[in-house]
Amino acid sequence: MTNSQTPQITIAIDGYSSSGKSTMARQLAKTIGYRYIDSGAMYRAVTLYALRHDMINRADNSVNAPLLVASLPEIAIDFKVDGDNQSTLLNGENVETEIRSIAVSQCVSPVAAIPQVRHALVAMQQKMGESKGIVMDGRDIGTTVFPKAEMKVFVRASAQTRAQRRLNEMIEKGIATTFEEILANVVSRDHIDETRDESPLRCADDAIVLDNSVMSVEEQNNWLLDLYKKVVASL
Ligand code: C5P
Repeated sequence: MTNSQTPQITIAIDGYSSSGKSTMARQLAKTIGYRYIDSGAMYRAVTLYALRHDMINRADNSVNAPLLVASLPEIAIDFKVDGDNQSTLLNGENVETEIRSIAVSQCVSPVAAIPQVRHALVAMQQKMGESKGIVMDGRDIGTTVFPKAEMKVFVRASAQTRAQRRLNEMIEKGIATTFEEILANVVSRDHIDETRDESPLRCADDAIVLDNSVMSVEEQNNWLLDLYKKVVASL
């Protein structure tokens, strides 16, 4: 549906963990022929690197921040697109499955709260968005990464709904876990993401809020596509 007359814009989709924002962001990018970037995958890849190099104390998930910050130049993150599938690459290795593990989910928010980690990843994300035509999802895309994005959406849903969605995904992938474990992780990540000093999770003043607690995937995809059409028509 894009053509030479359609302006290329920047689309920022932020929200709580497991709110379904990645699903809708990915589908919108596919429909309109934009590049999709899952910024959470980048924080997860850095976390996996830290776990593999014993920089995280699993007793309390505290991070050896100075060591991790010193290692940042050695961490290269990229994405590989293969048809409808997108994989995250950590120093050239496909880590898409490993970054979704419970261990990474439990440690990612403390890693993402380290200012130097954020500065490094935000700089990479801004570079990826230089030529527009991008849909990026995360926690601080509309507030910090692309504050001038033409379209900003903030997605929310109840913690129970989000935990149930994440549980369904895990069951589909054959990963053993419980609703209680996932709910605790969702609530804990929300808390760390909202209260960190460096670009905390918050709704940008000019973002459109979507509560998708009772929406189907198809309904939210249609809602997002309609919003995109309105935004582009208004430019
Ligand atoms: O989106 P996802 O749940 O995979 O993100 C994992 C974690 O990465 C979040 O809980 C948050 O701590 C962090 N994150 C962030 N800023 C972003 C994207 C993710 O702090 N833009």
